Amino acid sequence: MKKSASRKMQARIQPLRRHHRLLVVNGDGFCCYARVKLQYRCSMVAYFGRLVDRRDHPIRVCFRPPVPEIALAAGYLDRAVSMHLKGEQQEAEALIALADKPEIRQWTESIWGKDSPYVQRKAVCGTPEVRPLVQRHVRMPTSAEILAIHQRDGFNCRFCGIPVIRKEIRQKLAQDYPKALPWGRTNILQHAAFQAMWAQYDHVLPHARGGDTSLDNLLLTCAPCNFGRMNSTLDEVGIQDPRLRAIRPSTWDGLERLCRLQVGNIHV
Ligand SMILES: [Zn+2]
Repeated sequence: MKKSASRKMQARIQPLRRHHRLLVVNGDGFCCYARVKLQYRCSMVAYFGRLVDRRDHPIRVCFRPPVPEIALAAGYLDRAVSMHLKGEQQEAEALIALADKPEIRQWTESIWGKDSPYVQRKAVCGTPEVRPLVQRHVRMPTSAEILAIHQRDGFNCRFCGIPVIRKEIRQKLAQDYPKALPWGRTNILQHAAFQAMWAQYDHVLPHARGGDTSLDNLLLTCAPCNFGRMNSTLDEVGIQDPRLRAIRPSTWDGLERLCRLQVGNIHV
């Protein structure tokens, strides 16, 4: 009887083990893989809960793949800056306006909006808890650290890969082209491409969970990937740590030829 039960459990576990990512649902929370192995050895699966495979909470590289309009908008903005630098301001203005695409806004909202279907959070055992506000000492990266991040990461989001633009570049263009590049107080009043492509310096282990502002813990990301995750850890949202992947080469320069990031005599 005992042997039969054991075989039954083997049959239940073996197909799941092919995925090498097992989680145990324990009430509303998930426990880590090591614990699954432990309870497998102890034959106490039923005691802890039910086994599920990672397809229920798949590991992804980003919340949602970029829509093609983002690459299109980046092309328009790249040409707009080239036109601007040649003194052809009318063309530059038209191209900036063309990049303000509703499809990009929809993509952004679908990730950082309330109840996003693309951002699913699960509790993970052993993850540091969110610290109370009074215990957090917020330190923004210095300009030298930002420079070092761009020298390492380039100008593409480390999660979804879309081109990003520093806010200083956006502000400079908005001064010259305020109609084509609106930047109001609410999301809907902001240029959709510049909003999605807004460069962020994201803490891998969120600051609110005890993560520090060291270069190892900072990544260049776009705004939707940063604000979609908020204070969740990568495990909690089922996103792979981008530091495990090589940085993909890109020719996108972040429109930096307009206003280079400088620290002392070095620049990006
Ligand atoms: Zn992104």
